[in-house]
Amino acid sequence: MIPVVAVVGGGWAGCAAAAAVQQAGAQAVLIERTDLLLGTGLAGGIMFNNGRLTAARELQLMGGGALFDAIDRVTLHRRVDFPGHRHASLYDVDRIERAVRSALESMGVRVLTQSRAVDVVRSGTRLAGVVLSDGSSVAADAFVDATGTAGPQANCGRVNGCCVMCVLRCPTFGPRVSISAKAGVAEITGPLFSAMSGSCKLMKRSLAPWLVRRLEEQAAMVIPVPRYMARADRAAHKACQQYALPEFYDNIVLLDTGQAKLMAPFFPLSRLQAIAGFESAAFEDPRSGGIGNSIRYNLITPHDTALKVDGVDNLFCAGEKAGLLVGHTEAICTGTLAGHNAVRHALGLPPFRPPVSTVLGDLLHYLDATLRPPVGMPQKTTFAGGPYFSRMYDTGLYTTDEKRIAARVQQAGCEHVFSRRLA
Ligand SMILES: Cc1cc2nc3c(=O)[nH]c(=O)nc-3n(C[C@H](O)[C@H](O)[C@H](O)COP(=O)(O)OP(=O)(O)OC[C@H]3O[C@@H](n4cnc5c(N)ncnc54)[C@H](O)[C@@H]3O)c2cc1C
Repeated sequence: MIPVVAVVGGGWAGCAAAAAVQQAGAQAVLIERTDLLLGTGLAGGIMFNNGRLTAARELQLMGGGALFDAIDRVTLHRRVDFPGHRHASLYDVDRIERAVRSALESMGVRVLTQSRAVDVVRSGTRLAGVVLSDGSSVAADAFVDATGTAGPQANCGRVNGCCVMCVLRCPTFGPRVSISAKAGVAEITGPLFSAMSGSCKLMKRSLAPWLVRRLEEQAAMVIPVPRYMARADRAAHKACQQYALPEFYDNIVLLDTGQAKLMAPFFPLSRLQAIAGFESAAFEDPRSGGIGNSIRYNLITPHDTALKVDGVDNLFCAGEKAGLLVGHTEAICTGTLAGHNAVRHALGLPPFRPPVSTVLGDLLHYLDATLRPPVGMPQKTTFAGGPYFSRMYDTGLYTTDEKRIAARVQQAGCEHVFSRRLA
């Protein structure tokens, strides 16, 4: 019998987990509450900046890069530099979902959209199934919790004073539900964990044609703002610490991801419209980006360095659920490992723990050290900035040298580990 792995949450982490399950020879069922895959990845687009390039190349050499081809097909700009960030790529946020969904379906993933998990079926220390909001259930041998950390609306209300109508569309599709919490796992939280998402999307059609033309030619623009507009979000506790740099407060940093990505958690509309080229600016996401953004990082799931959730034998976690980790690449890397280890568990094999000589292995040890009690000052981090990128830099893990990355993966004995069939 081919093992079945139910992956709950169809963001980048869940999509990568589902791909890894198929690659390992098992059957993935991907359960997503909205009608689109990719979650917050529908509002993102920046890939391969700083250490994300190293981590992505390593993962590809480990055989886990199934979704990078789909990203490549809808990439608008490559090797883009902007303040504090080198060699980024920008994917088209309007075309990425179809590209990833097609890739997953052609791999054989069973994709269930508009399917919200609201409870679990427990059997001792294991999960036997997840219950969906229509009362049906999905049985599986192992599970991945990739439900992210955004929403439900009450979180945004607590910090923002309201729901700013973000891409997760909680009022329409119902709130996020943590599978780990439903399984009785005590999730990690703290007063300083919650953070506001760090960028907005503007409708290109609302911007002056000359501005759009220049943005599409240059991919990234740094536009100084008048002094009196010293950005209001300076004090905001942002999820994206990699953009907490003076250049992002003293200028408008705009990136072309199909839409115009404004690198600020929010920007008062009347002020924005006082800047040349932005006179008719309108927010695409979040719709109320003049006053706030979605709130994330409310609850983190405790897990070990194989991404197995503490206290439940056959439950793994990935993406933002797995730590104060920000980013698509981070979600893809942890998702791949969680999906792979879920299959190993279902087959009675020991989990794969990437060695600390690799970025993924080192990251998991870093998360373990920062999230075990007593949890200190919670700092969001990424391969592209924040404390973890500094660590990559200091330890020499960060490199853009393809030969060095390949040698490292080979020496660690990790080549093609995720693309070998186990079942
Ligand atoms: C506005 C914005 C811009 C960003 N820009 C970038 C960027 O340019 N580059 C970058 O690298 N990172 C960016 N990030 C961060 C990045 O998007 C996230 O850190 C990463 O994609 C998180 O992936 P995830 O799969 O863990 O979670 P999410 O993207 O939150 O996905 C979780 C999914 O689970 C679903 N779900 C939740 N509960 C349930 C349930 N009970 N049943 C079924 N489904 C459920 C949700 O609907 C959602 O689709 C951005 C984030 C935001 C909010």
